[in-house]
Amino acid sequence: MARYTEASCKLCRREGMKLYLKGERCYKDKCALEKKSYPPGQHGQLRKKLSDYGVQLREKQKVKRIYGMLETQFRLCFERASRMEGITGENLLQQLECRLDNAVYRAGFASSRTQARQLVKHNHFTVNGRKVNIPSYILKVGDVIELKEKSRDNVLIKESLETSDGRGVADWMTINKDSFKATVNRLPERGDIDYDIQEHLIVELYSK
Ligand code: SF4
Repeated sequence: MARYTEASCKLCRREGMKLYLKGERCYKDKCALEKKSYPPGQHGQLRKKLSDYGVQLREKQKVKRIYGMLETQFRLCFERASRMEGITGENLLQQLECRLDNAVYRAGFASSRTQARQLVKHNHFTVNGRKVNIPSYILKVGDVIELKEKSRDNVLIKESLETSDGRGVADWMTINKDSFKATVNRLPERGDIDYDIQEHLIVELYSK
């Protein structure tokens, strides 16, 4: 599957905020944004005033990058959100949070969404007892993600679980580290998403 290959830290610098793309490093003082808080490139330190369109575009790029998605996938997710009842921007964020790769990260099995996506694709998890290796799989209330028995000694996953409390795990799931399970108790709400996101700007952009 296609994916971003641009250096992760440059993406954070471009968006001017931590996108948490590199696992544990993001939570330490090694974070590149702590040292260089201006955008990358020769003219990165020059201040530019963005047009309304530019502001909307940056917001969309930021959210896309947080969830590690490409334009086509993101657009499809938006279209699904716009067909749902309720507020489109909030529906979009809910859809993004309910992706299996995000839930694996939010449950603490992985230290970043990139790592979570790899683990899902490499068949380390089941959902409701069935093999699911599709990162974009959308979870529902009551779904149970479980780490397969043969994967429970995986060093990366063990380390991620040990450090997960420092990253903050999702309130909308019950996580049982002893049984390597995470259960979706309710759908994530706007208040569960603690990034600085203005989702209405994405709706405005796509509604043009
Ligand atoms: Fe972003 Fe993490 Fe790099 Fe910091 S360390 S700039 S949060 S990817």
